[in-house]
Amino acid sequence: GNVILEVEDLHTYFFNRGSTVKAVDGVSFFLREGETLGIVGESGCGKTTTSKLLLRLETPTDGEILLDGKNIQNFRGSELQDYRTTVQAVFQDPWSSLSPRMRVRDIVAEPLVVNRQVSHQERDDRVAEVMSQVGLHAEQANNYPHEFSGGQRQRIAVASALASYPKMIVLDEPVSALDVSIRAQIMNLLVDLQAEYNVSYLLIAHNLATVRYMAHQTAVMYLGQIVEYAETEELYQNPLHPYTKALFSAALPSHPDLVREEIVLTGEVPSPINPPSGCRFHPRCPFAMDQCSVDIPVDKEVAPGHRVSCHLY
Ligand code: SF4
Repeated sequence: GNVILEVEDLHTYFFNRGSTVKAVDGVSFFLREGETLGIVGESGCGKTTTSKLLLRLETPTDGEILLDGKNIQNFRGSELQDYRTTVQAVFQDPWSSLSPRMRVRDIVAEPLVVNRQVSHQERDDRVAEVMSQVGLHAEQANNYPHEFSGGQRQRIAVASALASYPKMIVLDEPVSALDVSIRAQIMNLLVDLQAEYNVSYLLIAHNLATVRYMAHQTAVMYLGQIVEYAETEELYQNPLHPYTKALFSAALPSHPDLVREEIVLTGEVPSPINPPSGCRFHPRCPFAMDQCSVDIPVDKEVAPGHRVSCHLY
């Protein structure tokens, strides 16, 4: 598909009591129509800030986010309203992301009616259509969110996100609050609806199996930077960055075939306030060399579409 979203050298610094938190520090990626980019990393790696930037809930300190070639930061008035319709989100907890006092009909219809005049008939037809597409009954739109199970509430959140025919949906931990038995259903639903709508997903998740199942490409973030990026299967079968290897060997112990070397992550994630010099992973890296604490590794393409930032390559 065509590239619909380009993120170029994004930086977001938060200034707090004399210190600078480099939450996102030089991140670039793109997203194709109808495809999913997964972003993985430990908490504090900058993936949540990245999703907020794409939703225009945060403002970048530097860098650009281009949707169809247009810088989203320049959107005002109707262009900004269009953007809010075009880019939707599904968050982790269906309780906190669904208003308890609104009927499901109004929750689902909100992105549809918020920016334009839609007749009651048009609204109700569209709500009934998306409700059935996510596996619920049209009549259930009269109910309130608390009358549904966790999996059903996430179906409602997906219906709402799709109601306005978005180009892109930010999926921020979309299945991690759900029972394991329900996760596969919701992941399959998201994959099926992606094919039907040709919508792009930016998938933020710490669960590596979720990302492997859903994402076409995967980026690994560490302390505000992308340290490795590849087609998902290439990354999972041939992880190169020591941090990626460590993340995978910690999270996928039952899949030793995926990881040829066991690397154990030691130490806490350092603070994004005054991150380590040189390679930010050097204090935790078992392969660290003298130059690693001094020189910042540059992004190298080691195989077609497989990029890694590490002095070993
Ligand atoms: Fe480890 Fe050095 Fe590579 Fe950083 S650059 S991941 S410290 S080997």
